[in-house]
Amino acid sequence: MKVLTLNCGSSTVKYKLIETDTEENIAYGKVERIGMIGASIEIVTQNGKKIVEEQELLDHVMAVDAILKMMIRPDLKIISDFSEIDAVGHRVVHGGETFTGSVLINDEVIKILKENIQLAPLHNPPNIQGIEAAKAVLPDVPMVGVFDTAFHTTMPDYAYIYPIPYQLYRKHAIRRYGFHGTSHYFVSRKACEKLNCKVHSCNLITLHLGNGASVTAIKRGKSVDTSMGFTPLEGLVMGTRCGDIDPAIILHIMQQEKLALYEANNLLNKFSGILGISGKSNDMRDIEELYNQGDNLARLTIDIYTYRIKKYIGAYFAVLGHVDIIVFTAGVGENSPLIREKSLEDMDTFGIKLDHDRNEKIVGGKDGVISSDDSKVKVVVIPTNEELVIAMDTAKIVKKMGKKLKK
Ligand code: ADP
Repeated sequence: MKVLTLNCGSSTVKYKLIETDTEENIAYGKVERIGMIGASIEIVTQNGKKIVEEQELLDHVMAVDAILKMMIRPDLKIISDFSEIDAVGHRVVHGGETFTGSVLINDEVIKILKENIQLAPLHNPPNIQGIEAAKAVLPDVPMVGVFDTAFHTTMPDYAYIYPIPYQLYRKHAIRRYGFHGTSHYFVSRKACEKLNCKVHSCNLITLHLGNGASVTAIKRGKSVDTSMGFTPLEGLVMGTRCGDIDPAIILHIMQQEKLALYEANNLLNKFSGILGISGKSNDMRDIEELYNQGDNLARLTIDIYTYRIKKYIGAYFAVLGHVDIIVFTAGVGENSPLIREKSLEDMDTFGIKLDHDRNEKIVGGKDGVISSDDSKVKVVVIPTNEELVIAMDTAKIVKKMGKKLKK
């Protein structure tokens, strides 16, 4: 089955066309600057041919249409007709408490997503726009929504309820939801496969360290706690997001600096984290370069970043009782031996021992074990593939629907 996955942001669409029978990527790419001057579409074909073109793309409908038109271009030979696309899988950031797994998208689902907008005002509106755009361009193709929050719906109430008046949970659904669920799910399964252990008899700590970053405690295959909370702002230090801070700081800064709500929101989401501490960049590659040149704020950034990871690992050890596997994934997790080493430094008492040489070698999209042979806890690097989860879930749901229709 050929599944098109779409991950829509306010001015971007990332896409992949996947053949789910073979788990092969047929093509992928992105559209950027939708609705702006200089909008562009990029496509990378299976044999690595890359095309980037500027086009006038005023909205998501035009963006999805442009992606499909790119795919039927005779010189690229990706597909010969739109009808070859069997289904579309949409990444949806927030499923609220309603969606505990992926669902076939119908009017009722769209209605619930719209009702949930206040839970993810930045993310869900473009996701909904993406769904509506795909429905406009491919009206007869079944679509499935795959939620970042779904994997975490197994958390117990004491992990997801905040110690603020319980009424606020009832009234405004304020609770921990957790994000990056498809990634934590995928890498936990892949890690168990790689290490030959059954996911349902195994405990893991999975570290998704990208621009956004989160860590999840997984007990016998199920998420029991995760560092992101009501929004993707809580938890680890991220590219531009602060992660855990004393909430009183926000009130204090707003008062002292006379900040409006949106300014405080920008400060915490766009100007904090790695960028905020270093004052230079939100990209860990730049910070590592500065660190190697002896820059003190780069040293401090890396120390805070890895110290926070270590604290979460310690906390999740306590939550899980025992840990079999620690997984590193996403941009930083897959590519930075330095961050991995510093995050796990001096943790021999926890049974964690890194193998320096193995750690140095696993970069650039490779997977592999980086712990030493005598480490009780196995540490592995697993490249994440959220689109594959979206495509496989979509195919499963659409096939099931097909069987029901035949009966
Ligand atoms: P996103 O959350 O945007 O999907 P990614 O998982 O692609 O992010 O991660 C992007 C981040 O990965 C970059 O901001 C960069 O900090 C980091 N990164 C990528 N390559 C390296 C590298 N070789 N060393 C350190 N960090 C890296």
